[in-house]
Amino acid sequence: MAKNHRAATDVNGRPELPIVEDDGFSAEMLFRQGYSYTYDDLIFHPGFINFATDAVDLSTHLTRNIQLRTPCVSSPMDTVTEAAMAAAMATVGGIGFIHYNNQPQVQAALVKKAKSQRVAFMPDPVCLRPSDPISHIDLLKETRGFSSVLVTEDGKVGSKLLGVVTSRDTDFVVDRSTELCEVMSRDIISAPAGASLEEASRVLIESKKSLLPLVTDTGELTELLCRTDLKSHRQNPDSGFPSLGADGKFLVGAAVGTRESDQIRLQLLVDAGVNVVILDSSQGDSIYQRKMIEYVKKVHPELDVIAGNVVTAYQARNLIEAGADALRVGMGSGSICTTQEVCAVGRGQGTAVYKTAAVGNAMGVPIIADGGIANSGHVVKALSLGASTVMMGSFLAGTDEAPGEFFIQDGLRLKKYRGMGSLEAMAKGSDARYLGDKSRLKIAQGVSGSVAAKGSVLRLIPYTLHAVKQGFQDLGTPSISAAHDALVAGSIRLEVRTGAAQKEGGVHDLVSYEKRRF
Ligand code: 5GP
Repeated sequence: MAKNHRAATDVNGRPELPIVEDDGFSAEMLFRQGYSYTYDDLIFHPGFINFATDAVDLSTHLTRNIQLRTPCVSSPMDTVTEAAMAAAMATVGGIGFIHYNNQPQVQAALVKKAKSQRVAFMPDPVCLRPSDPISHIDLLKETRGFSSVLVTEDGKVGSKLLGVVTSRDTDFVVDRSTELCEVMSRDIISAPAGASLEEASRVLIESKKSLLPLVTDTGELTELLCRTDLKSHRQNPDSGFPSLGADGKFLVGAAVGTRESDQIRLQLLVDAGVNVVILDSSQGDSIYQRKMIEYVKKVHPELDVIAGNVVTAYQARNLIEAGADALRVGMGSGSICTTQEVCAVGRGQGTAVYKTAAVGNAMGVPIIADGGIANSGHVVKALSLGASTVMMGSFLAGTDEAPGEFFIQDGLRLKKYRGMGSLEAMAKGSDARYLGDKSRLKIAQGVSGSVAAKGSVLRLIPYTLHAVKQGFQDLGTPSISAAHDALVAGSIRLEVRTGAAQKEGGVHDLVSYEKRRF
């Protein structure tokens, strides 16, 4: 019998609209199936667009009391966040967490330095002494790639500036043991300490020099502005308003452990002006974190404390009850991480974020989706699944601001990136994170490797955020809070991708191609 294709009509004779609510799944339905989903397993359905990309508002809460303009956070890892990264993250409206794989005094000094750092200025340029030989500059050229150096009385920032040496002063000197005082130029063009970027840039450009030192009234070196840094700063997109604390300085966070000795570290960090601390542990639902949260709340009630890591609703509720001001979420999702392989515990990051955020958001405690962010799509997924910020390691490792030097391997420019649970990092002290420092046998829960050079954070993050805004526009959610509301209401629809769907969703069937981020 022939099928009747005539549409049903309403009372006015117009075709009745078919029911479409059951297309895709609400998150609530999808995450009840008993699977652990990663970001790549999931795909979101597009929503309705009635706003422009630039109208998307990505401002968010890092903790109960700290707001950010940008939902990006750098991880407390020793190949990711020291002073330069923390300052850059604050510049783009996010925040960086200084790692604690160092002596407490060193970490506190890094916090202080990050807080007082200024965009484009170098707070601790390499300096040499007048009695140093030219061969020291040759070494710098070889290891650091530059040959223009400031000469100060004791070879450090903060002492009297005596001269500048550039390759023009040393190129044709045959005897490389010649002292710098014999070749340096004493005719120095400088700017006053504290000069604004605008003022200092004007002096630097007019001078036609490559370096502009900033000096006090009595001649001590305070900072340096380099022509190359100024040029790249001008090529970066506008960073917008930075993350500043009540003191008018950059917001900077830091990691601490949960031992009694960490109470001293905490005090030094507070004295250095730290704005928020993170209790750094791979499995945070412990008596140690409970006690440390209690201690921080008692001794520093004004300081927000982030607890974690957690991946289940139960763990999340425990730490919120203990007083956590935000939760760091992720176990085994990091790019350098082997926890799931070694310990058989953890969770797919998509599921972990959704399940913990359901508890956190209901109780007013923001979620930091930590680990597994490899592209802007992952950021969109994390935020739409309930996270308020994303914490990144590998995504930021390899930038100019990450600690460490670049090196060339197989023709590629690389920087080291290692897990804090790698044997290499634990040898330096980070084993506290993995509760392993008291045991004689050290078991790695991470690896040590390298990542490709990525340029400056000041460029990478603004471009990434623009892509994230495009994702939010496609979803039809104009802000992070709108996405969270839509998630709870079930109007964000999503599905799991099969292996073939994931393949189809990436570049395929080309003989060759170039993949550039921006
Ligand atoms: P990524 O952004 O590289 O994917 O992940 C970074 C995150 O991995 C960090 O923020 C931290 O939570 C986690 N992590 C860092 N080092 C290690 C490690 O050695 N082992 C494990 N299991 N996780 C790590």
